[in-house]
Amino acid sequence: MKKICVVGVGYVGLVTGTCFADLGNRVIALDISEERIEILKKGILPIYEPGLEEMVKRNVAAERLDFTTSYQEALENADFAFIAVGTPEGVDGEADLQYVRAAAESIAEAMTRPLIIVNKSTVPVGTGDWVADIVRAKQTQPIPFSVVSCPEFLREGSAIQDFMNPSRIVLGSLDKDAAHKVADLHLSLRAPIVVTDLRTAEMIKYASNAFLATKISFINEIANICEALGADVKEVAAGMGYDPRIGRSFLDAGLGYGGSCFPKDVKALAFMATVQGKHPQLLQSVMDINKYQRRQVILKARELLGSLKGKTIGLLGLAFKPNTDDMRDAPSVEIARAVQAEGAVVKAYDPVAMHAAERMMSGVQMRANAYEVAEGADLLILCTEWNEFKQLDLGRLKQLM
Ligand code: NAD
Repeated sequence: MKKICVVGVGYVGLVTGTCFADLGNRVIALDISEERIEILKKGILPIYEPGLEEMVKRNVAAERLDFTTSYQEALENADFAFIAVGTPEGVDGEADLQYVRAAAESIAEAMTRPLIIVNKSTVPVGTGDWVADIVRAKQTQPIPFSVVSCPEFLREGSAIQDFMNPSRIVLGSLDKDAAHKVADLHLSLRAPIVVTDLRTAEMIKYASNAFLATKISFINEIANICEALGADVKEVAAGMGYDPRIGRSFLDAGLGYGGSCFPKDVKALAFMATVQGKHPQLLQSVMDINKYQRRQVILKARELLGSLKGKTIGLLGLAFKPNTDDMRDAPSVEIARAVQAEGAVVKAYDPVAMHAAERMMSGVQMRANAYEVAEGADLLILCTEWNEFKQLDLGRLKQLM
Protein backbone atom coordinates (compact mmCIF):
# COMPACT_ATOMS: atom_id res chain seq x y z
CA MET A 1 0.00 0.00 0.00
CA LYS A 2 1.39 3.38 -1.04
CA LYS A 3 0.29 6.78 0.19
CA ILE A 4 -0.79 8.97 -2.65
CA CYS A 5 -1.97 12.54 -2.86
CA VAL A 6 -3.86 13.58 -5.99
CA VAL A 7 -4.00 17.31 -6.69
CA GLY A 8 -7.15 18.32 -8.59
CA VAL A 9 -10.34 16.24 -8.46
CA GLY A 10 -11.62 16.80 -11.98
CA TYR A 11 -12.19 14.14 -14.64
CA VAL A 12 -8.59 12.90 -14.45
CA GLY A 13 -7.78 13.45 -10.78
CA LEU A 14 -10.95 11.92 -9.36
CA VAL A 15 -10.68 8.84 -11.56
CA THR A 16 -6.94 8.46 -10.88
CA GLY A 17 -7.32 8.85 -7.13
CA THR A 18 -10.31 6.54 -6.90
CA CYS A 19 -8.72 3.85 -9.06
CA PHE A 20 -5.45 3.96 -7.10
CA ALA A 21 -7.51 3.60 -3.90
CA ASP A 22 -9.35 0.67 -5.46
CA LEU A 23 -5.97 -0.94 -6.15
CA GLY A 24 -5.35 -0.90 -2.40
CA ASN A 25 -3.47 2.36 -1.90
CA ARG A 26 -4.30 5.08 0.61
CA VAL A 27 -5.31 8.17 -1.38
CA ILE A 28 -6.07 11.70 -0.33
CA ALA A 29 -7.55 13.73 -3.16
CA LEU A 30 -7.19 17.47 -2.90
CA ASP A 31 -8.81 20.38 -4.67
CA ILE A 32 -8.82 24.13 -4.17
CA SER A 33 -12.56 24.13 -4.81
CA GLU A 34 -14.20 23.92 -1.39
CA GLU A 35 -17.53 23.27 -3.05
CA ARG A 36 -16.16 20.21 -4.90
CA ILE A 37 -14.60 18.75 -1.76
CA GLU A 38 -17.69 19.46 0.32
CA ILE A 39 -20.02 17.59 -2.03
CA LEU A 40 -17.52 14.75 -2.49
CA LYS A 41 -17.43 14.30 1.28
CA LYS A 42 -21.21 13.86 1.11
CA GLY A 43 -20.82 11.19 -1.58
CA ILE A 44 -21.97 13.45 -4.44
CA LEU A 45 -19.78 13.57 -7.54
CA PRO A 46 -18.98 16.89 -9.23
CA ILE A 47 -18.73 15.13 -12.61
CA TYR A 48 -20.54 12.32 -14.40
CA GLU A 49 -18.45 9.28 -15.20
CA PRO A 50 -20.03 5.81 -15.50
CA GLY A 51 -19.29 3.60 -12.47
CA LEU A 52 -17.33 6.26 -10.60
CA GLU A 53 -19.87 7.14 -7.93
CA GLU A 54 -20.12 3.58 -6.66
CA MET A 55 -16.34 3.20 -6.71
CA VAL A 56 -15.81 6.45 -4.79
CA LYS A 57 -18.34 5.41 -2.12
CA ARG A 58 -16.81 1.96 -1.78
CA ASN A 59 -13.29 3.28 -1.31
CA VAL A 60 -14.34 6.06 1.06
CA ALA A 61 -16.16 3.44 3.17
CA ALA A 62 -13.02 1.27 3.17
CA GLU A 63 -11.04 4.32 4.38
CA ARG A 64 -8.70 4.18 1.41
CA LEU A 65 -10.00 7.42 -0.13
CA ASP A 66 -10.47 10.80 1.46
CA PHE A 67 -10.91 14.38 0.28
CA THR A 68 -9.44 17.63 1.49
CA THR A 69 -8.63 21.22 0.53
CA SER A 70 -5.52 21.22 2.74
CA TYR A 71 -2.14 20.58 1.10
CA GLN A 72 -0.64 19.98 4.58
CA GLU A 73 -3.12 17.23 5.31
CA ALA A 74 -2.83 15.68 1.84
CA LEU A 75 0.97 15.61 1.87
CA GLU A 76 1.57 14.71 5.50
CA ASN A 77 2.35 11.05 4.79
CA ALA A 78 2.36 11.01 1.00
CA ASP A 79 5.03 9.19 -1.04
CA PHE A 80 3.60 10.46 -4.33
CA ALA A 81 1.80 13.67 -5.34
CA PHE A 82 -0.04 13.38 -8.66
CA ILE A 83 -0.75 16.73 -10.30
CA ALA A 84 -4.03 16.51 -12.26
CA VAL A 85 -5.08 20.15 -12.52
CA GLY A 86 -6.43 21.71 -15.70
CA THR A 87 -4.20 23.10 -18.46
CA PRO A 88 -6.73 25.06 -20.53
CA GLU A 89 -6.06 27.00 -23.67
CA GLY A 90 -4.28 30.26 -23.00
CA VAL A 91 -3.37 33.19 -25.20
CA ASP A 92 -2.57 32.30 -28.87
CA GLY A 93 -3.25 28.62 -28.20
CA GLU A 94 -0.44 28.28 -25.69
CA ALA A 95 -1.31 26.01 -22.72
CA ASP A 96 -2.21 28.03 -19.65
CA LEU A 97 -0.01 26.70 -16.86
CA GLN A 98 -1.27 28.89 -14.02
CA TYR A 99 -2.91 25.95 -12.21
CA VAL A 100 0.16 23.75 -12.57
CA ARG A 101 2.32 26.55 -11.22
CA ALA A 102 -0.02 27.08 -8.24
CA ALA A 103 -0.11 23.33 -7.54
CA ALA A 104 3.70 23.07 -7.70
CA GLU A 105 4.11 26.05 -5.37
CA SER A 106 1.60 24.69 -2.87
CA ILE A 107 3.24 21.25 -2.90
CA ALA A 108 6.67 22.83 -2.31
CA GLU A 109 5.39 24.88 0.63
CA ALA A 110 3.51 22.00 2.28
CA MET A 111 5.83 19.01 1.76
CA THR A 112 7.63 17.76 4.86
CA ARG A 113 9.13 14.52 3.56
CA PRO A 114 10.76 13.19 0.37
CA LEU A 115 8.23 13.11 -2.42
CA ILE A 116 7.80 11.96 -5.98
CA ILE A 117 5.80 14.56 -7.88
CA VAL A 118 4.00 12.94 -10.80
CA ASN A 119 2.58 15.14 -13.50
CA LYS A 120 -0.61 13.76 -15.05
CA SER A 121 -1.79 17.04 -16.54
CA THR A 122 -1.09 17.50 -20.24
CA VAL A 123 1.71 20.03 -20.25
CA PRO A 124 4.03 21.57 -22.85
CA VAL A 125 7.40 19.95 -23.36
CA GLY A 126 9.79 21.27 -20.73
CA THR A 127 7.15 21.74 -18.01
CA GLY A 128 8.57 18.94 -15.86
CA ASP A 129 11.88 20.79 -15.57
CA TRP A 130 10.00 24.02 -14.85
CA VAL A 131 7.94 22.34 -12.10
CA ALA A 132 11.18 21.08 -10.52
CA ASP A 133 12.58 24.64 -10.58
CA ILE A 134 9.40 26.01 -8.95
CA VAL A 135 9.42 23.38 -6.21
CA ARG A 136 13.12 23.95 -5.49
CA ALA A 137 12.60 27.71 -5.31
CA LYS A 138 9.51 27.52 -3.09
CA GLN A 139 10.61 24.90 -0.57
CA THR A 140 10.98 26.32 2.91
CA GLN A 141 13.75 23.78 3.59
CA PRO A 142 15.56 21.50 1.12
CA ILE A 143 13.69 18.20 1.00
CA PRO A 144 14.55 15.66 -1.72
CA PHE A 145 11.98 15.24 -4.49
CA SER A 146 11.78 14.03 -8.09
CA VAL A 147 9.49 14.96 -10.93
CA VAL A 148 8.04 12.23 -13.14
CA SER A 149 5.83 12.81 -16.15
CA CYS A 150 3.01 10.26 -16.41
CA PRO A 151 0.64 11.57 -19.07
CA GLU A 152 -2.94 10.41 -18.89
CA PHE A 153 -4.61 8.68 -21.82
CA LEU A 154 -8.01 7.87 -20.31
CA ARG A 155 -11.17 8.79 -22.17
CA GLU A 156 -14.12 10.38 -20.45
CA GLY A 157 -17.05 8.01 -20.55
CA SER A 158 -14.86 4.92 -20.18
CA ALA A 159 -12.32 6.38 -17.78
CA ILE A 160 -12.37 3.60 -15.16
CA GLN A 161 -12.04 0.90 -17.77
CA ASP A 162 -9.21 2.87 -19.41
CA PHE A 163 -7.39 3.43 -16.13
CA MET A 164 -7.65 -0.23 -15.15
CA ASN A 165 -6.75 -1.52 -18.64
CA PRO A 166 -4.35 1.06 -20.04
CA SER A 167 -2.92 0.64 -23.53
CA ARG A 168 0.40 1.76 -22.06
CA ILE A 169 1.90 3.65 -19.15
CA VAL A 170 4.36 6.34 -20.20
CA LEU A 171 6.82 7.55 -17.60
CA GLY A 172 9.42 10.24 -18.10
CA SER A 173 12.01 11.39 -15.63
CA LEU A 174 15.63 12.27 -15.22
CA ASP A 175 15.45 10.14 -12.05
CA LYS A 176 15.02 6.56 -13.29
CA ASP A 177 14.60 5.26 -9.75
CA ALA A 178 11.61 7.58 -9.24
CA ALA A 179 10.16 6.54 -12.61
CA HIS A 180 10.42 2.88 -11.59
CA LYS A 181 8.67 3.61 -8.29
CA VAL A 182 5.79 5.13 -10.25
CA ALA A 183 5.92 2.10 -12.58
CA ASP A 184 5.50 -0.14 -9.51
CA LEU A 185 2.22 1.63 -8.69
CA HIS A 186 0.91 0.45 -12.08
CA LEU A 187 2.36 -3.08 -12.10
CA SER A 188 -0.89 -4.84 -11.26
CA LEU A 189 -2.46 -3.30 -14.38
CA ARG A 190 -0.13 -5.44 -16.53
CA ALA A 191 0.25 -2.78 -19.21
CA PRO A 192 3.32 -2.09 -21.33
CA ILE A 193 5.44 0.53 -19.55
CA VAL A 194 7.55 3.01 -21.52
CA VAL A 195 10.23 4.68 -19.41
CA THR A 196 11.86 7.65 -21.05
CA ASP A 197 13.02 11.17 -20.30
CA LEU A 198 10.70 13.95 -19.14
CA ARG A 199 10.45 15.87 -22.39
CA THR A 200 9.84 12.77 -24.48
CA ALA A 201 7.03 11.63 -22.17
CA GLU A 202 5.41 15.06 -22.39
CA MET A 203 5.69 14.95 -26.18
CA ILE A 204 4.19 11.44 -26.41
CA LYS A 205 0.93 12.80 -25.00
CA TYR A 206 0.70 15.71 -27.44
CA ALA A 207 1.73 13.58 -30.41
CA SER A 208 -0.90 10.95 -29.49
CA ASN A 209 -3.73 13.47 -29.23
CA ALA A 210 -2.63 15.27 -32.38
CA PHE A 211 -2.60 11.98 -34.26
CA LEU A 212 -6.11 11.06 -33.12
CA ALA A 213 -7.38 14.54 -34.02
CA THR A 214 -5.73 14.10 -37.42
CA LYS A 215 -7.65 10.86 -37.97
CA ILE A 216 -10.90 12.68 -37.21
CA SER A 217 -10.15 15.57 -39.55
CA PHE A 218 -8.98 13.11 -42.18
CA ILE A 219 -12.24 11.16 -42.20
CA ASN A 220 -14.24 14.40 -42.14
CA GLU A 221 -12.42 15.57 -45.24
CA ILE A 222 -13.05 12.21 -46.87
CA ALA A 223 -16.73 12.49 -45.83
CA ASN A 224 -17.08 15.80 -47.59
CA ILE A 225 -15.49 14.38 -50.74
CA CYS A 226 -17.71 11.27 -50.47
CA GLU A 227 -20.80 13.42 -50.21
CA ALA A 228 -19.86 15.31 -53.36
CA LEU A 229 -19.12 12.09 -55.26
CA GLY A 230 -22.01 9.98 -54.00
CA ALA A 231 -19.98 7.53 -51.88
CA ASP A 232 -20.92 6.44 -48.34
CA VAL A 233 -18.25 7.49 -45.85
CA LYS A 234 -19.42 4.96 -43.24
CA GLU A 235 -18.75 2.11 -45.63
CA VAL A 236 -15.50 3.73 -46.69
CA ALA A 237 -14.35 3.91 -43.04
CA ALA A 238 -15.38 0.30 -42.44
CA GLY A 239 -13.54 -0.82 -45.56
CA MET A 240 -10.43 1.12 -44.58
CA GLY A 241 -10.54 0.04 -40.95
CA TYR A 242 -9.88 -3.64 -41.65
CA ASP A 243 -6.33 -2.70 -42.64
CA PRO A 244 -4.34 -3.06 -39.39
CA ARG A 245 -2.06 -0.24 -40.50
CA ILE A 246 -5.09 2.06 -40.50
CA GLY A 247 -7.44 0.69 -37.82
CA ARG A 248 -11.16 1.36 -37.46
CA SER A 249 -11.17 3.69 -34.47
CA PHE A 250 -11.45 7.46 -34.84
CA LEU A 251 -12.74 7.15 -38.39
CA ASP A 252 -16.24 8.40 -37.63
CA ALA A 253 -17.20 11.41 -39.68
CA GLY A 254 -19.30 13.99 -37.89
CA LEU A 255 -19.20 17.40 -36.32
CA GLY A 256 -15.48 17.21 -35.68
CA TYR A 257 -13.59 16.82 -32.43
CA GLY A 258 -14.41 18.82 -29.32
CA GLY A 259 -13.99 18.39 -25.60
CA SER A 260 -11.43 19.39 -23.07
CA CYS A 261 -8.38 17.85 -24.76
CA PHE A 262 -8.04 17.63 -28.55
CA PRO A 263 -8.83 21.27 -29.42
CA LYS A 264 -6.48 22.75 -26.85
CA ASP A 265 -3.77 20.10 -27.24
CA VAL A 266 -3.51 20.41 -31.03
CA LYS A 267 -3.35 24.19 -30.63
CA ALA A 268 -0.73 23.96 -27.89
CA LEU A 269 1.44 21.62 -29.98
CA ALA A 270 1.17 23.94 -32.98
CA PHE A 271 2.11 26.83 -30.71
CA MET A 272 5.17 24.98 -29.40
CA ALA A 273 6.25 24.22 -32.95
CA THR A 274 5.78 27.81 -34.10
CA VAL A 275 7.78 29.17 -31.18
CA GLN A 276 10.61 26.88 -32.33
CA GLY A 277 10.42 28.36 -35.85
CA LYS A 278 8.71 25.27 -37.29
CA HIS A 279 5.66 25.35 -39.56
CA PRO A 280 3.10 22.84 -38.28
CA GLN A 281 1.21 22.68 -41.58
CA LEU A 282 -0.50 19.36 -40.93
CA LEU A 283 -1.70 20.46 -37.48
CA GLN A 284 -2.98 23.69 -39.00
CA SER A 285 -4.99 21.77 -41.58
CA VAL A 286 -6.38 19.47 -38.89
CA MET A 287 -7.64 22.53 -37.00
CA ASP A 288 -8.99 24.22 -40.15
CA ILE A 289 -10.94 21.14 -41.19
CA ASN A 290 -12.37 20.82 -37.69
CA LYS A 291 -13.53 24.41 -37.71
CA TYR A 292 -15.05 24.00 -41.17
CA GLN A 293 -16.89 20.88 -40.06
CA ARG A 294 -18.87 22.78 -37.43
CA ARG A 295 -19.66 25.51 -39.94
CA GLN A 296 -20.77 22.88 -42.41
CA VAL A 297 -23.79 21.93 -40.31
CA ILE A 298 -25.05 25.52 -40.37
CA LEU A 299 -24.66 25.59 -44.14
CA LYS A 300 -26.65 22.35 -44.36
CA ALA A 301 -29.38 23.80 -42.13
CA ARG A 302 -29.66 26.80 -44.44
CA GLU A 303 -29.71 24.53 -47.46
CA LEU A 304 -32.63 22.57 -45.98
CA LEU A 305 -34.64 25.38 -44.39
CA GLY A 306 -33.66 28.52 -46.25
CA SER A 307 -33.58 31.34 -43.74
CA LEU A 308 -33.28 30.11 -40.13
CA LYS A 309 -35.21 33.09 -38.79
CA GLY A 310 -38.18 31.91 -36.74
CA LYS A 311 -37.36 28.23 -37.36
CA THR A 312 -37.15 25.76 -34.49
CA ILE A 313 -34.01 23.67 -34.38
CA GLY A 314 -33.65 20.72 -32.02
CA LEU A 315 -30.32 19.46 -30.73
CA LEU A 316 -30.08 15.81 -29.72
CA GLY A 317 -27.14 15.46 -27.36
CA LEU A 318 -25.13 18.34 -25.97
CA ALA A 319 -22.01 16.83 -24.34
CA PHE A 320 -18.93 16.77 -26.54
CA LYS A 321 -19.20 12.98 -26.65
CA PRO A 322 -21.40 10.24 -25.16
CA ASN A 323 -21.21 9.05 -21.55
CA THR A 324 -19.95 12.32 -20.13
CA ASP A 325 -21.43 15.59 -18.97
CA ASP A 326 -18.34 17.49 -20.14
CA MET A 327 -19.42 20.50 -22.20
CA ARG A 328 -15.96 21.96 -22.80
CA ASP A 329 -15.66 22.92 -26.46
CA ALA A 330 -18.73 20.85 -27.32
CA PRO A 331 -19.84 21.46 -30.94
CA SER A 332 -23.45 21.80 -29.69
CA VAL A 333 -22.63 25.12 -27.98
CA GLU A 334 -21.21 26.68 -31.13
CA ILE A 335 -24.04 25.33 -33.28
CA ALA A 336 -26.71 26.64 -30.88
CA ARG A 337 -25.12 30.09 -30.83
CA ALA A 338 -24.76 30.21 -34.60
CA VAL A 339 -28.39 29.29 -35.33
CA GLN A 340 -29.68 31.54 -32.55
CA ALA A 341 -27.72 34.40 -34.13
CA GLU A 342 -29.66 33.74 -37.34
CA GLY A 343 -32.96 33.98 -35.47
CA ALA A 344 -33.72 30.30 -34.80
CA VAL A 345 -35.33 28.96 -31.63
CA VAL A 346 -33.27 26.13 -30.13
CA LYS A 347 -34.58 23.18 -28.10
CA ALA A 348 -32.29 20.50 -26.75
CA TYR A 349 -31.99 17.28 -24.78
CA ASP A 350 -29.00 15.38 -23.40
CA PRO A 351 -29.18 12.30 -21.15
CA VAL A 352 -26.74 13.70 -18.55
CA ALA A 353 -25.23 17.01 -19.63
CA MET A 354 -28.27 19.30 -19.45
CA HIS A 355 -27.38 20.72 -16.08
CA ALA A 356 -23.83 21.56 -17.20
CA ALA A 357 -25.14 22.79 -20.57
CA GLU A 358 -27.72 25.18 -19.14
CA ARG A 359 -25.01 27.45 -17.81
CA MET A 360 -23.37 27.73 -21.23
CA MET A 361 -26.40 27.83 -23.53
CA SER A 362 -28.55 30.78 -22.69
CA GLY A 363 -31.91 30.88 -24.42
CA VAL A 364 -31.84 27.18 -25.28
CA GLN A 365 -35.02 25.40 -24.16
CA MET A 366 -34.14 22.14 -22.44
CA ARG A 367 -36.56 19.24 -22.93
CA ALA A 368 -37.02 15.92 -21.12
CA ASN A 369 -36.35 13.63 -24.08
CA ALA A 370 -35.69 13.47 -27.81
CA TYR A 371 -39.39 13.33 -28.73
CA GLU A 372 -40.14 16.53 -26.82
CA VAL A 373 -37.30 18.19 -28.73
CA ALA A 374 -38.78 16.99 -32.00
CA GLU A 375 -42.24 18.41 -31.24
CA GLY A 376 -42.77 21.26 -33.69
CA ALA A 377 -39.10 21.34 -34.73
CA ASP A 378 -38.17 22.18 -38.32
CA LEU A 379 -34.83 20.43 -38.07
CA LEU A 380 -33.06 18.06 -35.69
CA ILE A 381 -29.30 17.97 -35.37
CA LEU A 382 -27.74 14.91 -33.78
CA CYS A 383 -24.84 16.44 -31.86
CA THR A 384 -23.79 13.56 -29.60
CA GLU A 385 -23.90 9.88 -30.49
CA TRP A 386 -25.51 8.71 -27.25
CA ASN A 387 -26.64 5.08 -27.43
CA GLU A 388 -30.23 6.02 -26.62
CA PHE A 389 -30.45 7.94 -29.90
CA LYS A 390 -29.58 4.82 -31.87
CA GLN A 391 -33.02 3.28 -31.39
CA LEU A 392 -35.21 6.36 -31.75
CA ASP A 393 -38.58 5.78 -33.41
CA LEU A 394 -37.91 7.80 -36.56
CA GLY A 395 -41.53 7.57 -37.70
CA ARG A 396 -42.71 9.11 -34.44
CA LEU A 397 -40.03 11.81 -34.68
CA LYS A 398 -41.20 12.69 -38.18
CA GLN A 399 -44.82 12.93 -37.06
CA LEU A 400 -43.88 15.25 -34.21
CA MET A 401 -41.80 17.58 -36.37
P1 NAD B 1 -10.74 19.45 -14.68
O1 NAD B 1 -10.91 20.86 -15.04
O2 NAD B 1 -11.91 18.51 -14.77
O3 NAD B 1 -10.17 19.34 -13.20
C1 NAD B 1 -9.15 20.11 -12.71
C2 NAD B 1 -9.33 20.26 -11.21
O4 NAD B 1 -8.16 20.87 -10.67
C3 NAD B 1 -10.50 21.16 -10.82
O5 NAD B 1 -11.34 20.46 -9.92
C4 NAD B 1 -9.84 22.37 -10.17
O6 NAD B 1 -10.62 22.95 -9.14
C5 NAD B 1 -8.57 21.75 -9.65
N1 NAD B 1 -7.47 22.71 -9.39
C6 NAD B 1 -7.10 23.78 -10.11
N2 NAD B 1 -6.04 24.38 -9.55
C7 NAD B 1 -5.72 23.67 -8.44
C8 NAD B 1 -4.72 23.78 -7.44
N3 NAD B 1 -3.82 24.74 -7.49
N4 NAD B 1 -4.71 22.89 -6.44
C9 NAD B 1 -5.63 21.89 -6.37
N5 NAD B 1 -6.60 21.73 -7.30
C10 NAD B 1 -6.65 22.61 -8.32
O7 NAD B 1 -9.54 18.90 -15.58
P2 NAD B 1 -9.39 17.45 -16.24
O8 NAD B 1 -10.30 17.30 -17.40
O9 NAD B 1 -9.39 16.43 -15.16
O10 NAD B 1 -7.92 17.58 -16.84
C11 NAD B 1 -6.77 17.65 -16.03
C12 NAD B 1 -5.55 17.50 -16.92
O11 NAD B 1 -5.53 16.18 -17.50
C13 NAD B 1 -5.48 18.47 -18.09
O12 NAD B 1 -4.15 18.83 -18.31
C14 NAD B 1 -6.01 17.67 -19.24
O13 NAD B 1 -5.52 18.13 -20.47
C15 NAD B 1 -5.47 16.29 -18.92
N6 NAD B 1 -6.25 15.19 -19.48
C16 NAD B 1 -7.61 15.24 -19.43
C17 NAD B 1 -8.34 14.17 -19.92
C18 NAD B 1 -9.85 14.21 -19.92
O14 NAD B 1 -10.45 13.37 -20.56
N7 NAD B 1 -10.48 15.14 -19.21
C19 NAD B 1 -7.69 13.05 -20.47
C20 NAD B 1 -6.30 13.04 -20.46
C21 NAD B 1 -5.58 14.10 -19.97
